[in-house]
Formats: sequence, structure tokens, C-alpha cells
Amino acid sequence: MTTNGFDFHCHVDLFPNPEALIAQCDRDRIMTLAVTTTPKAWEQNRLWTEHSRCVLPAVGLHPELVGQRYAEIALLEDIMAETPFVGEIGLDGSAKYRNTLSTQKDVFSRALRSAQRLGARILSIHSRGAAREVLALLSEHTTSDRVLPILHWFSGSVELAAEAVQVGCYFSINHRMLDSRTGIAVTRRVPADRLLTETDAPFIKINQRTSEPQDVSATIARLAELRNVSIDEMKHIVASNAERVLSFARVSIPTAGR
Ligand code: MN
Repeated sequence: MTTNGFDFHCHVDLFPNPEALIAQCDRDRIMTLAVTTTPKAWEQNRLWTEHSRCVLPAVGLHPELVGQRYAEIALLEDIMAETPFVGEIGLDGSAKYRNTLSTQKDVFSRALRSAQRLGARILSIHSRGAAREVLALLSEHTTSDRVLPILHWFSGSVELAAEAVQVGCYFSINHRMLDSRTGIAVTRRVPADRLLTETDAPFIKINQRTSEPQDVSATIARLAELRNVSIDEMKHIVASNAERVLSFARVSIPTAGR
């Protein structure tokens, strides 16, 4: 089996029919990281993806929910022992959630310390309005030999993106990120070997319809244009980055005959 693309941040469990979406990812051979927003969603996510070749289940605790779900950090830490994939976690410093930022930092720090202790953990990180704080906590609690951070839909500055590269971060780029001037500037300047694709589906609309993992191919085309390489070359770049990321978690991409 050869893969047709990589969606490193998709809320599979928030689609009306997750099982149909998983079957579609398998059919279309799109490797998809199924993130969750509460650790209580883990068990169902794990069961749904148990027989999937292309969809990998992650456990998360979304920063926007930390205000109400602070106590679920213990469950998150427990489940992190079972899976190398952690997301969605992070910080949200936007106006609506800033009031819970200190609790968010506490929860995120605990998740980072667990990831560091366990090792071989891949994180899909939300950093809206708090990129500086996310990078500070990553530097404080993790090292790049044990934890691989992926900044999902990064909306910070080019300068902060450069700092993130120093901390070992990858960037998963979605369709909407490339509608923003800063998103484009970041995408053009980060090293090619840190670029990944995602959709954040079903939260993003593309031409009035809900996005889905297959939409990563449109993002590959935009990335190719922005980075001035061919579409085939961009596919190859993202595929080799994805392979490196997954091998960090000791997961291999399914190949022919398996
Ligand atoms: Mn998300």
C-alpha cells in the first residue's frame, strides 16, 4: 500500500459517522491522526480505529475545555501510557479563554511532563494566542529526543515559528492557515523538513462543505506553489517528514503486502 496523504489533525469522532470516515480514509489511503478533545473520548476512538490501517487514535484534553474538565488531567495521564499520540492539547490565550490560562498551563505542563517521562510521544498542539507560552513550556518540560511536538494550525509570528523550529517543532498546515498572510509567511520560511499537512476537520469549511482528510491534497498543491516546488516534490517532502515523525513513535506506515 502506498499512502496518498497525511492528515495530522482531524477530529474523526466529531463527524456524524466516524466509522464511515475511517473506512473512507482506509480506502483512500490517507494516514490520519484522530485527535480528541477529552480523554473520555479515548476508549471509543480506540475501538473505532482498532482495525484501521490508516487512522491512528490520539488522546487529548483541549485547552478550551480545561476550564470545565480540569479534573480529567489524571485520566489523560493514565491513557498517555497506552498511546504514543497525544492531541489535542495546548494553550489558548484568545479573549474567550484567557481567563483559564493558568489552569491550562498547569494541565499542559502535566501532559508535557508525562510525555517526557514516557518518551517516544508525538503531540498535536493548539497554540492560538499563546505560542510564546507553549514554546516556553515545551522548553521547560521536554527534550527533542523524547517528545516530538507538532504545532497544529500555528498562527504565531514568523519569529516565534523560528523559535519553534529550534525547540524541535513540526508544523501541520491546513487550508485555512494559508488564507492568512502570517500563515503564508510562516509556511514559506520554516525548514521543508518540518512541514506536515492537516485539516482540523470537521471545523473548517471548504467551498461551503465540511472539510475531510482527503482535502490535504489541495493543501499539498498550495504548499508546492508557496514553496516553489512541484506537487510531486511537495508530496514527497511531506511523506518523508511523516515517516520520520511516525518512526519516532515506532509506528511504521503500512506498505504493500501488509
Ligand atoms: Mn482541532
